[in-house]
Amino acid sequence: MTESYELLEPEKVAAYIDSRADLAARVDTSTLDVTEVGDGNLNLVFVCKDASGRGLVLKQALPYVRLVGPSWPFTPKRAVAEARAYEVHGRFAAEYLPEFYGFDEPRYILAMEDLTDHRVWRGALTDGERHDGAAADIGRYVARVAFHTSLFGIEAKAVKELAAAAISPELCEITEDLVLTEPFSGAERNWFQDELAAAAASLQTDELKARAGELKWAFMTRAEALIHGDLHTGSVMVRDGSTRAFDSEFTFYGPVAFDLALPWSNFIVTLARDAVLGRAEHGAWVETLFEELWDAFEAEFRSLWPGVVDPRVFNELYLERWLAQTQRDAAAFAATEAARRIVGLAHVPDLETLDVEPRAVAGRAVIETVKRLLLDRPDTAGEVRAIAREEVARG
Ligand code: ADP
Ligand code: MG
Repeated sequence: MTESYELLEPEKVAAYIDSRADLAARVDTSTLDVTEVGDGNLNLVFVCKDASGRGLVLKQALPYVRLVGPSWPFTPKRAVAEARAYEVHGRFAAEYLPEFYGFDEPRYILAMEDLTDHRVWRGALTDGERHDGAAADIGRYVARVAFHTSLFGIEAKAVKELAAAAISPELCEITEDLVLTEPFSGAERNWFQDELAAAAASLQTDELKARAGELKWAFMTRAEALIHGDLHTGSVMVRDGSTRAFDSEFTFYGPVAFDLALPWSNFIVTLARDAVLGRAEHGAWVETLFEELWDAFEAEFRSLWPGVVDPRVFNELYLERWLAQTQRDAAAFAATEAARRIVGLAHVPDLETLDVEPRAVAGRAVIETVKRLLLDRPDTAGEVRAIAREEVARG
């Protein structure tokens, strides 16, 4: 059943803010300028700015998928999940998030810092911009989440309570289907360029399906930490000296490697785009981001490790093995996410904005990278970079 609650409209936003004293103190609603900017697949997003330049953003979950419309009902409880992620992650990683101004649960409205002086990272990479340090910032954010929400950083019974509260079957099902199944099983809603039909078919081997099964199992059973869950470059905003992860409605207790994998998969896509556009300099820089992200994650995680709550068995040897496994799993999860951007339901503008011919070349390079990441099972960020580099150079 579709839930009913009042949806915001631009003309009603000032009155809404006035009705919440905590928000009314942040902007002058008598001079408020409100713009609905939601470019995402799911929700309403209102940027509100007053005449003196103070602002805030309201994000309201719709009871359906925006990309498709009311014919695909979808739980607005995803806003509860996003609020939980901001609240929990904000305790130890506030500098990597928008400041969170609170949640109106009955109407599924989140209030947060206005980040319009930032850019969505995906757009910046697509345009060939460089934002030095953003990949490292995201690595550190993931490390803090990995440590402070897991058995490493908190007492076991508390982890179980948090994991139970964060269970999110509807959101997880989307990832399980779109990322971890359909690129390899085929599906009615998959689509791809005609030129990529053979490449798409080449993903549907028994071996690759079994690899997808392995990863789907890991995603669905390995409740390690309160991961972001959808940390692609469209969920990160950048500005010089500032990197913020937002849109965390897919959060749940899952494998840490998944949060490292999504940025990696986007670096693969950006490399493919740079190659067909002849943007050698930008491509050479993007190549460095795989290791930049991993190295920052690892360094931050190691720096937190002395605080591990149960060092009896989570010892130094265990730490080395956990890091190695996480790096390997990140490579494999990155492959599934890259695959779905070429053949699945939701593609990315990084490639879709290319002309037909270069778009097919880039798409093929990504698919070849995907297959090698899944079949060769690289161990390190450097190996992932090398495979992606080789495959985009072949195009
Ligand atoms: P969805 O869940 O629908 O994908 P997002 O949280 O990704 O919604 O927001 C959609 C878009 O709205 C973002 O891509 C960004 O352009 C804009 N946006 C979201 N949050 C903010 C913010 N705090 N400040 C400025 N712009 C924002
Ligand atoms: Mg989004």
